[in-house]
Amino acid sequence: ERVNPEDTVKIRTLGFGSSGKVYKVQHKKTNKVYALKIIQDKHEPAVCKQILTEMDILRRARNPYVVQCYGASEKGGEISFLLEYMDGGSLADILKSNKVISERYLADIAMKVLKGLDYLHRNKIVHRDIKPSNILLGRNQEVKIADFGVSTVLASTLAPCNTFVGTCAYMSPERFDPDNQGGHYNGYAADIWSLGLSLLECAIGHYPFISPEEKPDWPTLMFAICYNPSPSPPENASPEFKDFINQCLRKDPFLRPRASTLLAHPFITQYEVVPSSRAHSQQSGGRFWGNFTKALTSIFS
Ligand code: ADP
Ligand code: MG
Repeated sequence: ERVNPEDTVKIRTLGFGSSGKVYKVQHKKTNKVYALKIIQDKHEPAVCKQILTEMDILRRARNPYVVQCYGASEKGGEISFLLEYMDGGSLADILKSNKVISERYLADIAMKVLKGLDYLHRNKIVHRDIKPSNILLGRNQEVKIADFGVSTVLASTLAPCNTFVGTCAYMSPERFDPDNQGGHYNGYAADIWSLGLSLLECAIGHYPFISPEEKPDWPTLMFAICYNPSPSPPENASPEFKDFINQCLRKDPFLRPRASTLLAHPFITQYEVVPSSRAHSQQSGGRFWGNFTKALTSIFS
């Protein structure tokens, strides 16, 4: 299914990001709803062509845990992507309202993001921009990774380190290493770091490397990521969660587990449905998520 972004009309603004704006749009003929992401920076025609060609490859990535891209277009150096619309917002939206997420929800979110990452990594795609605002929620228990590909393709043309809200806050220590330029380090491990840091942020309610009051400049933050000990989960967290986060946040990328390995971690598997009571558990699982989405809806409405 391929849809042209130009055949849609805007309904409302969904959010502003480091690279552009995201709108909720509707297709004129089919009435289907999508998210339209517009990268506002003007790009050279050759760069646009390269981005669109690579997007065409990435458009074929299909996985229940990855936000689908339906089409891309370019007009005067401005690039638009038509994406699957996620009606629950992002983890960043939850964090903005100073909410923390309990371990039970985090385990479910972690499992789904790991399944998406495992799919991308198996297809030799490194996401490079895993962070709370790129983990999107749907009202039917969906959790999906957004902006994969968009970030890899645009990484060479956009400077990500300009602002604190930019990508670098979730970058792993080895990505700051000048000897690693060109990404020859284990890039998959960088995604695992970013996931661990994002989940820890959801558990404690603020960006883990600094206290909530601090507003450090970028070099201070980069120094902390590279040279301070990795942040730890709070004392009262479960041993499973502590171990899961500590493994994700190992400084040495070669010591961080792969997505497929983490899917078998007790923090994830402890909540797994036992087959004999599947029907019942699915029902209660639905109720559990129902409450969660209700809570989210009340935050955002
Ligand atoms: P960033 O990820 O840096 O915040 P984006 O431009 O990717 O910037 O997204 C901005 C906001 O738009 C996100 O925080 C999210 O709330 C919203 N958004 C992005 N993509 C979608 C989507 N596919 N469906 C629904 N909302 C989205
Ligand atoms: Mg994003």
